[in-house]
Amino acid sequence: MISFQYEPLVLQFRHPFGISRWTRTETTSVIVRILHDGIEGVGEGSPNARYGETYDSASHFLSHLDLTGFDSPAEIPAIMAYVDALAPGEWSAKAALDAALHDWWAKSIGLPLYKAWGIAEQNRLITSFTIGIDTTEVMVRKTQEASPYGILKVKVGTDRDQETIAAIRSVTDKPIRVDANEGWKTKEEALERIEWLASEGVEFVEQPMPAAQLMEMPWLKVRSPLPLIADENCGRLHDVDSLQDAFHGINIKIDKSGGLLEGRKMALRARELGLSVMIGCMSSSSVAISAAAHLALMADYADLDGHLLVGNDPYEGIQVEEGRLLLPDWPGLGVRLRS
Ligand code: MG
Repeated sequence: MISFQYEPLVLQFRHPFGISRWTRTETTSVIVRILHDGIEGVGEGSPNARYGETYDSASHFLSHLDLTGFDSPAEIPAIMAYVDALAPGEWSAKAALDAALHDWWAKSIGLPLYKAWGIAEQNRLITSFTIGIDTTEVMVRKTQEASPYGILKVKVGTDRDQETIAAIRSVTDKPIRVDANEGWKTKEEALERIEWLASEGVEFVEQPMPAAQLMEMPWLKVRSPLPLIADENCGRLHDVDSLQDAFHGINIKIDKSGGLLEGRKMALRARELGLSVMIGCMSSSSVAISAAAHLALMADYADLDGHLLVGNDPYEGIQVEEGRLLLPDWPGLGVRLRS
């Protein structure tokens, strides 16, 4: 019999954080804890309005879960099959539970999660650091503050994109990745912006157009001088096959996939289809980012800076050393409350 608890975690941003759809100053995660056989597993989900989620909807979903029919948190596939079947959506709540189960399972066998998965070595990917949409002056200041990080991810998708990129380029020659968050509304507009971005040394472009316009993406893919990475178009495993002709790679986030179990399947399928794999995140504490960092050991690109944008992270776990991700050698997800 398994019991679990959940609670909100209010995270304050270091700077107001903006993308093409909104700007905000704080975000509320859901933390799930499983206590079983004297071992505690912890997980975090970040409810996302883009997918119809709030903390209240996540906690409402979790309040309806009954895990008393399961004997051990190690029964991850069976538990997640039950959780997935209970209601559609609520991916972040599902991700929080899935991460807590993985944390518990890996702790129960005394290994960091990636070693429990059979991955011997960390790949030390360089994580990008995100510069949210703001005034050009503030975006330049954020770029200067991002000096420890080797790759920038710049949020675009407004009518000021060229001014933004030009201003950031005026203070750094680092690789820049661009995330339009569905901000360009026609394929012709998207191509024009991408061609200009290619001339500015941009590495790739994430989600140039609205997810609902997926049918127009193959047109853009064959013309784009830069790789295109699906984010809002890529939720779960069943989405991956539909993206082969439309994008060059996919951005997997556990808050979209509903957890690590599904995220691993997506990474393996993307490989089979010749798609590159990026592991991204929402704004979270070190719990969710550390969970995603284990998945990033299967990836080409990491965008795991969600905890770095937060000023009151109560947890410690994944470290960023000279811009590279390094998981501590602790069992489970590798997270603990700061002392
Ligand atoms: Mg994105």
